[in-house]
Amino acid sequence: MIALYVFLGLLAFLSLIIIKKTVELKNGRQAAAADRAKMKIERLTSFGIVKNLSILPLIDYYAERPDLKTEPGVSYLLKADDTLILMDVGFNAKKEHPSPLLHNMQAMNVSPKDLDMIFISHAHLDHLGGMKNQKEKTFSLSQGPVALSGIPVYAPVPLSASSWNPGPKTHVITEPKVLKPGIASIGVIPRFLFLMGQTLENALAVNVEGKGIVLIIGCGHQTIERVIERTLALFDTPIYAIIGGLHFPVGGGRIMIGPVNIQRLVGSDNPPWKSIRETDVQSAIAAIKKVKPKIVALSPHDSSDWSLDQFRKAFGDAYVDIRVGKEIVI
Ligand SMILES: [Zn+2]
Ligand SMILES: [Zn+2]
Repeated sequence: MIALYVFLGLLAFLSLIIIKKTVELKNGRQAAAADRAKMKIERLTSFGIVKNLSILPLIDYYAERPDLKTEPGVSYLLKADDTLILMDVGFNAKKEHPSPLLHNMQAMNVSPKDLDMIFISHAHLDHLGGMKNQKEKTFSLSQGPVALSGIPVYAPVPLSASSWNPGPKTHVITEPKVLKPGIASIGVIPRFLFLMGQTLENALAVNVEGKGIVLIIGCGHQTIERVIERTLALFDTPIYAIIGGLHFPVGGGRIMIGPVNIQRLVGSDNPPWKSIRETDVQSAIAAIKKVKPKIVALSPHDSSDWSLDQFRKAFGDAYVDIRVGKEIVI
């Protein structure tokens, strides 16, 4: 009898939590929609252009060589003419020093001293260097000293460098903004996620001479449909490439606790029983096909092998794998 009461008590408690979360989600979704509607997006004039662009994945879920470390996080090194940009700083789930990011940088002869700018797409643990950073609103390249003096850091929310990375000052950018000629942030596109709450994510756009706009995306919580819509609203130049995370952990995820697919739970603005599914992947593919990009590369850090396969089949020769150590030259 006591066991039955305990069971009913637990059931009632769980139901209350789900009801509370569902109400929060409904209100949060409405607030995010209102925030999106409020943003006045004007065309970015005098954007500028770069002659050359390459993207070297420093952290992602798969690697090109066995000596490079992988994890379900993101860090990409962009070389736009002479400007070196570090986009996101990986996960470092085991709190190591050197972190997988630092290990890979050393293995590929990339020195933090050479960086001109750090761009943080959004404040989730797999892009900030770990859970502690997410909680403390900081970011770190490793759990040991890495000096970053003088480098500007751009983030969509107030963030400071952790005590391991003294020097840089973070600039919060939520609006679309040219960071250097030919390199711009497309501005945040707010979305309310079931477990993570209000999420402000930014993406980079680089205008490559003779090619067009190359989009580099972190986790893709904005939805690719909205990223495309924003990009078309900002620039006259067509979209040439879409590269990065779009968050499709369908039929499996990179962070599992037992049978629970954590990425599927945290990355959706629907409750768990209506979370990310196959039809979302197909809608994204259809939206991307409409703008006819010449290069499409889906990050495996937050998408399943099933989703990667769908993209591979859909885009054929235009599809490029994202692997740590494999440079994508535009
Ligand atoms: Zn991510
Ligand atoms: Zn994320």
